[in-house]
Amino acid sequence: RIIAATSFSSQEEVLERALRPRQLEEYVGQEKIREQLQIFIEAARRRKESLDHVLLFGPPGLGKTTLAHIIAREMGVNLRQTSGPVLERRGDLAALLTNLEPNDVLFIDEIHRLSAVVEEILYPALEDYQLDIMIGEGPAARSVKIDLPPFTLVGATTRAGMLTNPLRDRFGIVSRLEFYTTDELSKIVMRSAGLLYVKISFEGAKEIACRSRGTPRIANRLLRRVRDFAEIKAEGYITQPVADAALKMLDVDAIGLDVLDRKLLLAVLEKFEGGPVGIDNLAAAINEERDTIEDVLEPYLIQQGFLKRTPRGRMATTITYQHFNIIPPKNSLM
Ligand code: ADP
Repeated sequence: RIIAATSFSSQEEVLERALRPRQLEEYVGQEKIREQLQIFIEAARRRKESLDHVLLFGPPGLGKTTLAHIIAREMGVNLRQTSGPVLERRGDLAALLTNLEPNDVLFIDEIHRLSAVVEEILYPALEDYQLDIMIGEGPAARSVKIDLPPFTLVGATTRAGMLTNPLRDRFGIVSRLEFYTTDELSKIVMRSAGLLYVKISFEGAKEIACRSRGTPRIANRLLRRVRDFAEIKAEGYITQPVADAALKMLDVDAIGLDVLDRKLLLAVLEKFEGGPVGIDNLAAAINEERDTIEDVLEPYLIQQGFLKRTPRGRMATTITYQHFNIIPPKNSLM
């Protein structure tokens, strides 16, 4: 049973939920966290206790929400879902916490965006399953303690560094999700194709996989777009050439960089002579939010070696120049 405190219903999200693995066994990759969770969940279940609080961090689309749902399911408890920016007042969080049943999972997405007042009432809740709330105002105000059932907080964030130390310290299990390998993404694409009744060859799946920026959400999204293309142009069968043609049409290049990735890298090369360029200047140059660059764009570009983060700003690398067939300037710092 899933109770969503936030409501969303775009078609994309409906499909995304349909493709979500429901058990740890179906969850591809992320060996380390999967192995840890398997043990901790089993131990907690045997003792009939709640699981330790879990912090998951990593770029969007790598499977944090999916894992939160799996944890609740494997624990055999309810999941309640909300997100940092939605919890504006103390009462919002208090209402959620007092409605939990023993050992339930409370999932807070974008937990780094909790307001300071809300975060403060979370501390005793996490530590002692207690809620300290003030009732009344002025001189008549007093604080009351309310006991909460034991519960597990699963927090998700794009960057662990954005959490305050006291909050981060209260998580017993902290895990960073990694980008997926092409093999792992191929498995995910094959599985999703099966669920969507799409005909696909293994090479077709691999072509989509290696152009998905290491990210399951992107792999699933590309699969759906390639399926449309295949239905119109190839009798519904996704082979490697069909996938390649479709992805070209979608402006996803041979190594999976999309329009925005290229815009960012080309800005570094052409407007800032390869860098170093400060993040705010870069954001202004490509007309994007700084957060989008830091959370969505650059983690993959850095992992792939197209961008370097230095104390003086972002820099292109030799392979960035190679990828765009541009000759590095003579006085370049590389
Ligand atoms: P996040 O919360 O990190 O942004 P999600 O959990 O929403 O990411 O994952 C996005 C989509 O990617 C999900 O709908 C799911 O189908 C797919 N996905 C994510 N991780 C995995 C995985 N390990 N195995 C299979 N599919 C996955």
